[in-house]
Amino acid sequence: MIDFELTKNDQKILDEVRSRALVCRKYARYYDENEHEFPPDELEEAKGQPEIFSMLGERTERDTSFGALSMLILAGQTWGDYSVRMRRAKGGLGNAALQAAGTPEQTEKWGDRTLAMAITEPGCGSDPSMVQCTAVLDGDEWVINGEKIFVTTGCRCDGVVVWATIDKSAGRAGIKSFLIEKETPGFVVTGKEKKLGIRADDTATFVFTDCRIPRGNLLGGKEEVPTKSSGGFKGVLKTFNMTRPAVAVIGLGMAEAAIDFTRDALQESGFEISYGGRLGTLPAVVEKFQKLEANCEAALLTILRAAWLSDEGEPNNTESSVCKAKAGLAVREITQGCIEILGPMGISREHLLEKWFRDTRITDIYEGTGEIQRMIIARALLGYTRKELN
Ligand SMILES: Cc1cc2nc3c(=O)[nH]c(=O)nc-3n(C[C@H](O)[C@H](O)[C@H](O)COP(=O)(O)OP(=O)(O)OC[C@H]3O[C@@H](n4cnc5c(N)ncnc54)[C@H](O)[C@@H]3O)c2cc1C
Repeated sequence: MIDFELTKNDQKILDEVRSRALVCRKYARYYDENEHEFPPDELEEAKGQPEIFSMLGERTERDTSFGALSMLILAGQTWGDYSVRMRRAKGGLGNAALQAAGTPEQTEKWGDRTLAMAITEPGCGSDPSMVQCTAVLDGDEWVINGEKIFVTTGCRCDGVVVWATIDKSAGRAGIKSFLIEKETPGFVVTGKEKKLGIRADDTATFVFTDCRIPRGNLLGGKEEVPTKSSGGFKGVLKTFNMTRPAVAVIGLGMAEAAIDFTRDALQESGFEISYGGRLGTLPAVVEKFQKLEANCEAALLTILRAAWLSDEGEPNNTESSVCKAKAGLAVREITQGCIEILGPMGISREHLLEKWFRDTRITDIYEGTGEIQRMIIARALLGYTRKELN
């Protein structure tokens, strides 16, 4: 049975996450306005605090699923501030790929480094099977050539999981992912993006020119010769089953911040936010606000379900797309709805609401846009192949 009821200890941990995250808000505006500056590795206020995950202790069957709790922790952190959290946190999207597909040896070696994930190229975004970056085996080394754009955490990461083809003629089956350390000769960070939102989060361009890496850096270690029917591509796609719920919940944390800010403002203006009353008895603005809250809760449940399935070792590819599609849209509706409710207060740079509105926009873009998620869901529900519905 699925049960997302929190134990007292889990709730205590989440309260601690939020209280730490609140500190990040002090820095949020500064790093939004100074796009390419890095916050300190450790904020003054956070010195000496134990790492959150070390507070979890042994999980028992009665505890919340670890995957679901990790999602709630992530939401709690971005509720404080996305950019400051991301800039300071250990780990990136590549770490989720490592978790999904890495061998035990790779996990041991790379697990505590911050890894970005580089799929997108100038001519390849929504359809990752169009990857042009190449990996050619030469003796005991892979030689990587190509360009990757829009790499999140691209500047401050220690390494990156790069998608490249080992055989263009094999199409999707030829695509593999590779672990590449920063500072490897032939690997250059050539640029940083300037963005609408998540402006303090570094988004970089990479160029690989005859970049040689050890043979063992093929993620997952499977070197079979690709054929059109081999399942190699499915292996790399497994990554998304971990990263899509994470991306969804990162956005939702910011939407929750917008909701809390709006609730406080409404209450300060004298509105009572009550539940369970008769239909049609609430002020219109309160009813509108409660619809935003319900949207947020619904999105959260889809995320927790995807994470719970992953914890149970069950397939969750459709659910990962469901939660990403739902949250991607919900966070836009919620932050925009909060701005509509609060009017000038919503767009003033005196407050963070306008920033949350800008920052959440990315949720529906990276790790596959909303349109792509809806197509994946439709294929799964209606039984279409990729060829039949694309
Ligand atoms: C801030 C930021 C951070 C990012 N971080 C990363 C990262 O860390 N790693 C990484 O690899 N990439 C990253 N990306 C890239 C991101 O994943 C891509 O931008 C995204 O997948 C879309 O690809 P594209 O930009 O090439 O758009 P396109 O694929 O050209 O799509 C353009 C538009 O057409 C729509 N569309 C495309 N195909 C279809 C279809 N078949 N049916 C209906 N609509 C369709 C899309 O939904 C989109 O709206 C990041 C992007 C941004 C902006």
